[in-house]
Amino acid sequence: MNKFCRYGKIAAWLLALFIGKLLLLTPSALAGETNPHWGYGGSENPTQWGSLSKDFQLCETGRSQSPINIKNAVVRDPANISFDYQHSPLVVVNNGHTIQVNYAQGSSVTINGEKFSLLQFHFHTPSEHTINNKASALELHLVHRNEAGKFAVVGVLLNQGKENSLIKEIWENIPATGKTNTISDRLINATNLLPKSKSYYSYSGSLTTPPCSEGVKWNILVEPITVSAEQIETFAKIYQVDARPIQPTNSRIIQLHR
Ligand SMILES: [Zn+2]
Repeated sequence: MNKFCRYGKIAAWLLALFIGKLLLLTPSALAGETNPHWGYGGSENPTQWGSLSKDFQLCETGRSQSPINIKNAVVRDPANISFDYQHSPLVVVNNGHTIQVNYAQGSSVTINGEKFSLLQFHFHTPSEHTINNKASALELHLVHRNEAGKFAVVGVLLNQGKENSLIKEIWENIPATGKTNTISDRLINATNLLPKSKSYYSYSGSLTTPPCSEGVKWNILVEPITVSAEQIETFAKIYQVDARPIQPTNSRIIQLHR
């Protein structure tokens, strides 16, 4: 081996190391991974989130946190929600906390005349919100944001029953932890995850993951959808528990819109 060749090899090895590092960093960056690490068990469990970082303080000190137990809802304003979900290429992210599907631009929900764009949806098991203390097998969160940066989340409860064909397709394409699986030629529509009835509970809450930011408009659909026992099991094999415990309602009003 001549000198040139040996330097060439070292350069190639350094390049491989650099690209390897990049590949390791990219998926978590894409998935919006926040530092420091947090989780649902061990020393990073939800009761510790507030002390893991200064940025996570609201998780402990916030007075309008999510999820909550939904009870004693007030019937005041009629339902005023409309979904305009377009097709989107299937992009499944396994971000280490949940299975998330990133959504293409151009889909939205309008609540009381206020329009919010759909960014992504993801799942929790068991459900984070409970209704009269009853949890569902899973909960779907459709995460929307308006131009002012305000979040509106639509929650759908998933109970055991008939299989859901869109969830089947998502589950079949779950990548390894930290990875993203993009299937550009496969179009999905999140409308297939909504129940027939659009009655919903609403209240003002927070993100249910760090940094637990408040001012989130929560809208939990009353009618659940169903997934098969096998589909529940498939998710639980990857994430046994990825639900934050119930937070105090404090003086917040929960409305039922129908
Ligand atoms: Zn969520």
